[in-house]
Amino acid sequence: MQNTLAYAQAQDAQDALRTFRAEFYIPKHTDGTDVLYFTGNSLGLQPKRAMQYLQEEMQKWQTQGVEGHFTAPRAWFDYHKHLREGLAHLTGGKAHEVVAMNSLTTNLHILLATFYQPTGKRTKILIEEGAFPSDQYVAESQARSHGLNPTETIVELPTGANAIEFIEALGDTLALVMLGGVNYYTGQFFDLPAITRTAQEVGAKVGFDLAHTIGNLPLQLHDWGVDFAAWCSYKYLNASPGGVGGIFVHEKHLNPPQPRLFGWWGYEENSRFLMQSGFKPEMSADAWQMSNAPILSMSVLLASLTIFQEAGITRLREKSIQLTNYLEFVLQDVAKKIDLPIRILTPALPAQRGCQLSLEVGKGGKALHERLTAQGVISDWREPAVIRFAPVPLYNSFEDVYRLGERFL
Ligand SMILES: *Cc1c(COP(=O)(O)O)cnc(C)c1O
Repeated sequence: MQNTLAYAQAQDAQDALRTFRAEFYIPKHTDGTDVLYFTGNSLGLQPKRAMQYLQEEMQKWQTQGVEGHFTAPRAWFDYHKHLREGLAHLTGGKAHEVVAMNSLTTNLHILLATFYQPTGKRTKILIEEGAFPSDQYVAESQARSHGLNPTETIVELPTGANAIEFIEALGDTLALVMLGGVNYYTGQFFDLPAITRTAQEVGAKVGFDLAHTIGNLPLQLHDWGVDFAAWCSYKYLNASPGGVGGIFVHEKHLNPPQPRLFGWWGYEENSRFLMQSGFKPEMSADAWQMSNAPILSMSVLLASLTIFQEAGITRLREKSIQLTNYLEFVLQDVAKKIDLPIRILTPALPAQRGCQLSLEVGKGGKALHERLTAQGVISDWREPAVIRFAPVPLYNSFEDVYRLGERFL
């Protein structure tokens, strides 16, 4: 690798996925040039085709009113089925194991109502140290709702600890593992299949918060036997701020029906409008739906999923490894040139990370972040000490990474 414009441009010229950048709107810096956008892990960019998908539904509403629930194409009544294929592609779930619904924190609560069933001494919930605050609050409030003391119930996996040994040591006190697939702060990607196997061997249920994983790394949730997962769609999935989230529930939990929170949208589809009492679940992940679906938000997600299907998550991951390795190389090179003490918190092994690198820069971190921002770099600062950069293979280029390095000098 070389930290030169010529090298970066040559990499871009060989990149079979380079045309996908044109599928997105890139925000402009004050000088009129494209910003260097490295925050697809926080809010993905707008796909150009999103407007068309949104307009189709606005038009249907305008011209057909309530009839839109049942008129083709893409009737609102079961609009979520159009999202299944794309979500199955990204999660490695089967089509009936995934559904787009609600938002992430809400979905974690809904899933824990099913999968967190403390009994006897098996009460503990394992989350990662430095878990995203909302995930901590979910665990805390779920523990309380069972009359348990959160301090005794919630166990944190220390950063850098061996998750397998840690889970084995918890043994029959462990009720639930709920880890981020990729930790939002460090960018560490956990070994999801090994964690799943071990957690289930000790008799616990296991689910993952895929906020920073879906659309970033390929997943095989079905084959790994993961019990459940949830995600949001506004990060790597580019599906608008606060866009509709989604869940995976392994088919082994579909029959017999599990304890769960009921709502009419999870009721058996064919008889839902008979409006009868006594809940009869749909025999798919759809059974966890509770409410009439947010069609406008789903339309934008559908637009984005079609792009992922065209690019293919395996090809995106191959490019992502190259791009992130290049970012690591460029950061280390510029740090040496300007004698900047940096530490990359994210694991160095590509198998243990996705796009994101988390950079710790001693005392001057925040000032550096502000200096980069003034030069048209969109990255983010996370307290207490980290600048996160996520080169996204759908729209970031090797040249973007080279230009980022230039801004440091
Ligand atoms: C982004 C993120 C969230 C946000 O949850 P919302 O309910 O969508 O606001 C939660 N958990 C993790 C790990 C995240 O990265």
